[in-house]
Amino acid sequence: MRSHALLTKKKGLLSLHHTVQLLFLGYLCYIGYAFLGYARWAMGESANYLPKPPSVEAFLPISSMLAAKRFVLTGNWDMVHPAGLCLFFFALLTALFLRKSFCGYLCPLGTLSELLFHAGRRLGLVRTLPVWTKWLLPLPKYVLLAFFLSLPLYLMDLPAIEAFLSSHYNLVCDTKMLLFFLEPGPLLIAALVLLVFGSLCIPSFWCRAFCPYGALLGLLALCSPIAIRRNPKQCIQCQKCQEACPQQIAVPTKVRVNLPECTGCLECQAHCPVPDCLGVSFGKKSVPGQLVCLGTLCLLLAIYTWARLTNHWVSQIPVEMLRILHENIHSLTHY
Ligand code: SF4
Ligand code: SF4
Ligand code: SF4
Repeated sequence: MRSHALLTKKKGLLSLHHTVQLLFLGYLCYIGYAFLGYARWAMGESANYLPKPPSVEAFLPISSMLAAKRFVLTGNWDMVHPAGLCLFFFALLTALFLRKSFCGYLCPLGTLSELLFHAGRRLGLVRTLPVWTKWLLPLPKYVLLAFFLSLPLYLMDLPAIEAFLSSHYNLVCDTKMLLFFLEPGPLLIAALVLLVFGSLCIPSFWCRAFCPYGALLGLLALCSPIAIRRNPKQCIQCQKCQEACPQQIAVPTKVRVNLPECTGCLECQAHCPVPDCLGVSFGKKSVPGQLVCLGTLCLLLAIYTWARLTNHWVSQIPVEMLRILHENIHSLTHY
């Protein structure tokens, strides 16, 4: 009876993680489709106006990072990509309080990485990397993070940030990003092929090795009071948790999994065969595992509601002006 109850509980946890991931992936596909409609109208390729979905601004982390510095220094909220700033602060807050749950539940690239991980496992492509790569693999993402953080911290003062945020380039950088992927050059195609193949062989290859955003969230998550906790007295060292972990974290060697890579996805807990050996703790107190996911969704809803009620969500730039700027979009640069 107890084992049945446990099985049911574990299936529930597993399905919450995957359900939220897939729902967000589906939602973002819809957002991408709507944004494509807006971009076609803005570039004069369609007469049907579709409003830009503000959530696409989540894919403009550099603009949001610069807007965050301006907000800290002046108190002025960025009204060019206001939703981007909301979602940037949301991701930072989740990392500080709920581990890297943004990566574990919401980011579509994280979901795609996990899907490729499962596909690679079924195809027998997944490789166990030598231990020394544990230190080497994440190096590129920290180098990239150091470069991007140096922009607001050292290389750009407030006037330079103001100039960038009000530049024509920043006003249409969401469409520029779309065109970057819609009109890929040979270098981008080669990089994407390498990344897909790499993700089939090495779980979460992009996230663990290259994503500077994930690197930033991972460092903040080290301060998070929430973490996976293992009971060494009950652990039978079966390694099932590590095999199931999309980040390949060596869970059986930890008591508290406080690592930058842990997304709080709970896959390890769902695959542990020993009742209550793995759990989620807030400090030293055990809490329900669902807290990570539900807390993330509640925080997202709270920030979205605040932004909607206070006009911090939809861009204030007139769409007619954006359409004029799109006429020369191919020649616009950030210089
Ligand atoms: S590491 Fe980057 S790409 Fe991966 S899930 Fe996190 S934010 Fe997304
Ligand atoms: S340690 Fe557990 S919660 Fe953390 S990423 Fe791995 S499977 Fe997910
Ligand atoms: S799955 Fe559970 S019992 Fe097995 S090694 Fe991990 S924590 Fe220990």
